Parts: sequence; structure tokens; C-alpha cells
Amino acid sequence: MSRSLDVARALFRDIPLYVPDTRKGIRLDVSDNTNLFGSPPAAGAAVRGAPSELLARYPIPYGVDLKTALARHLGVAPECVTTGCGSDDLLDCAIRAFGEPGDVLAHALPTFSMIPIFAQLNGLQPRGVRLQPDWDVNMEGLLASEPKLLYLCSPNNPTGTLVSRPALERLLAQAPGVVLLDEAYAEFSGISDLARAPTHGRLLVTRTFSKAFGLAGLRIGYAVGSPQLIREVEKSRGPYTLSALAERAALAALAGDLPWVEAQVQEARHARERLAAALKDQGLPPVPSAANFVLVPLPGAPEVARRMREEAGIVVRAFAELPGVGDALRIGVGPWPLMEEVLASLKRARS
Ligand SMILES: *Cc1c(COP(=O)(O)O)cnc(C)c1O
Repeated sequence: MSRSLDVARALFRDIPLYVPDTRKGIRLDVSDNTNLFGSPPAAGAAVRGAPSELLARYPIPYGVDLKTALARHLGVAPECVTTGCGSDDLLDCAIRAFGEPGDVLAHALPTFSMIPIFAQLNGLQPRGVRLQPDWDVNMEGLLASEPKLLYLCSPNNPTGTLVSRPALERLLAQAPGVVLLDEAYAEFSGISDLARAPTHGRLLVTRTFSKAFGLAGLRIGYAVGSPQLIREVEKSRGPYTLSALAERAALAALAGDLPWVEAQVQEARHARERLAAALKDQGLPPVPSAANFVLVPLPGAPEVARRMREEAGIVVRAFAELPGVGDALRIGVGPWPLMEEVLASLKRARS
């Protein structure tokens, strides 16, 4: 008889696997904030035209070509940029690079759900501090634990709200360790602190091709910081983390898809305001969003989401008892005709 061996690390025991929604019967998925306008044309052409030697060989170590193109695009030096397998990967790499086991990572509540998991996986203690009633971060609360790492997300997922200018300035001045500023949705807010990251010294800004750039399936993220910070992140990233195909697509997107991205961002902002107004008309005012999604507080949201899926094949993200919010739906913003379908289904699901 074989005895099963408990091979799990102690700190892995309470960490759940991500449970994806089953794809069966889904007509419209607005649950994950990806680009509902599709993917950009130049990147798509680059993927389809990839030469076979690109697939047979390893990518360039540390993705130097993409680093250089991003640096030019962002107006910073190449040694201040690194890329990763999605910005998820960069956040995980940064936590591993700057946090010793046992260190505290402070973050707002609610925020990006992967952050406490990445903290735990790396042996750090996540410390969530509730957003204030005005949706700004609680500066005192975040600084109280003297965190080795401070994670800020602006616009914040899942609220869509921004970290205010005074809060950000004070946190950047007073945080004792590294500040991770997640700008996954900055294209939609038009507000960014990326330009100051190379000289700040303790600020690492992460961005992604998964949202405004419409390339979530290829897993491309990047980070900007001082050369010293970037060097440490690259040690945990390793030389080949991003695939050659993903790098080729990202290079093509930077060279040829910026007008596409800009046009979709404008349309998403416009649709977001229309959606917010229509939700208000249904008696469901959303949280004021600067991103490509809105959060709608709604008691019984999980049940409403289940009905929308059942009656129309529409998937929205439901949250139960989100701290400081209660039950809520998060709805991704895309082309207006899709938003009309979501609104109609939501209305039926609540009646
Ligand atoms: C979607 C998202 C990311 C992105 O992730 P990738 O790994 O780049 O796809 C990062 N941070 C937040 C807050 C997000 O919502």
C-alpha cells in the first residue's frame, strides 16, 4: 500500500487554486476587464507571420529589444525598464526581490485579489487596510505597520477609483520600503506616475499589455524603476520569462497599434460614462471609475450574476461582502451595443 506524502510547503496549505468560470454557454464575458474591442491588428499580423527560427530558438536574454522599444515609447532609459510574463509575474518577482520572509506587505482593501496571494507565496505577511469612505487609500493605516513593501493600485481593481494626489505624494515620501504602483488601467485614467519612477529610487511602476492593448492572451507586462530596482527584479524574473512570440507581438503593437489603442481607450471612456448614467437610471449608481470597468454595489450580487448567466449567457464578476462595499458586480466596459445587452439582462435578473 502506498502512503501519500504531504509534500505541500506549510505556507502553501491555505492558498487556493484560481477557479476559472466554466466557458460553457457563455455568450458575452465582461468579467475580467480585458479589451472587449478585441486585439490590435499589427500585433495579430506579427503573431501570424512569425518565422520558424523565432519559435525554435530561445528569446533574447532579458528581452532587450522590447526593453529598448518600451524605453523609447515611455521616454525613459532602457536600464529603467523590465518586462515580464504579464504584470502579475512582475509583481510576484518584485515581492520576491524586495521582501524577506516575514516582512509585511501593506495594501488597500479591496484591491487586486492576487496581491495577498503573491505575498503569502513568498512568505510575506499581507496587511489589508480598508479604503476610506471617499474611496481614497488610508495613508495612516498603510504606513502604521512600517511595511517593507507597499502595494498601490491606481485606478484600483475592483473599485476603479484613483489614489489621490496628496495620498500618493505622502506615501512616496514616507513609505519606509519599496512602493509598487500598479498602473494596469492607467491608459484609461490618463494619470500616471511612471515618468518619475527612474529617479525616485523606491518606486516601481507596473503596466500591462492585457487591458488597453488587448493582448491578455500573450501575457506581456512591464515595470519601470531605478536601474538598481530593475536589476533586482530581473534577478527574480530570469532571462527567458517572456516568450519570443509575445515579444514580437509587443514590438509590433508599439510600432503600429498605438492609434488603435488610443481609439479604443476613447471609446471605452465614453461607454463607461454612458453605462454609469444608465446604471444610475436603474437605481444602481456605480462607484466613480477611472478604468475600463465599473463596480456596482448591489445586495445579492452573486445571485443576480447567476441569473444573468443563466438567462442570457452574460458573465459579470460578482463579489460577496467586499470590505467597505458589500455585495457588488464588476462590469467590464466595451462597445456600447454590448453594454446595452448587459443592462437589459441586469434589469431582467433583478425583476
Ligand atoms: C488585470 C490586472 C493586472 C494584469 O495583469 P497581467 O498579468 O499583466 O495580465 C495587473 N493588475 C491589476 C490590478 C489588474 O487588474
